[in-house]
Amino acid sequence: MPPPGSAPLLEVFASYQGEGLFVGEPQTFLRLGGCPLRCRYCDTKHSWPVAPEGDEAWVTPFQAILQVAGAELDEGPQHRAISVTGGEPLIWPEFLLGLADVAGDRPLHLETAGHDLAALERVLPVFDHLSLDLKLAQDLAPPARDFLKPNGGAGLPETESDWDTLRPRQLTLATEHLKRGGTSSIKLVVTNTTSTPGSSTFEAILDDLERLGKELPLFLAPESPRDPRAAFDPDILACLDGLVAAALERGLSPRVLPQMHRSLGVR
Ligand code: SF4
Repeated sequence: MPPPGSAPLLEVFASYQGEGLFVGEPQTFLRLGGCPLRCRYCDTKHSWPVAPEGDEAWVTPFQAILQVAGAELDEGPQHRAISVTGGEPLIWPEFLLGLADVAGDRPLHLETAGHDLAALERVLPVFDHLSLDLKLAQDLAPPARDFLKPNGGAGLPETESDWDTLRPRQLTLATEHLKRGGTSSIKLVVTNTTSTPGSSTFEAILDDLERLGKELPLFLAPESPRDPRAAFDPDILACLDGLVAAALERGLSPRVLPQMHRSLGVR
């Protein structure tokens, strides 16, 4: 049995934040293994499986912080934010709460799809920043239900209706986080095959944002070409234009931001 409150840690590395509100900021990334979702555009598929019990990847929060310190040895004395990413970090709520206990006054950022509302509500107060990745059901293959020991895979959103039901509460939690003095931002990945201009699903997301999350910065992230020197798909750019117009009509604050770390060729 892994120690209580531990989680499988895939990698720790110092880099630049490539997305969202803190883009360009030097941060230290802590990538946890395991994700029940199956985004078709996922570029971290290696993070999906959970390491078997007994594997050295399983660490306690304190061991993870030691690895953070190790990753920062070459960076000199700094006060970088620690960005917890995955995989889907929310499947390890005990680890996240324990991490906050040992992180001192380091800013903690959480990158999540927010698929588990109970876990999100529980852990969010210990984070300084929430980067909430809103999902479109049509961009997802059926979720994996077999390996998730923390919740047995129960209650995983799958259909458009599931995500539509989840989203108002996700946005409410994100705005409540602002009121507590934290920061929250929203990310929507725009792909060429599924996110067509005028998509009814995007309309539903934008409507929810207008109603519940107008103050949340909205980052539209075009799916980046694998080759950073390649041009963006024109269909994606057309979709972005439509989305930006629709967001502005609703009084939202859309910002188009490709993944910067791909352009730089860093992790
Ligand atoms: S939630 Fe993140 S890690 Fe999981 S499949 Fe989607 S993009 Fe990949």
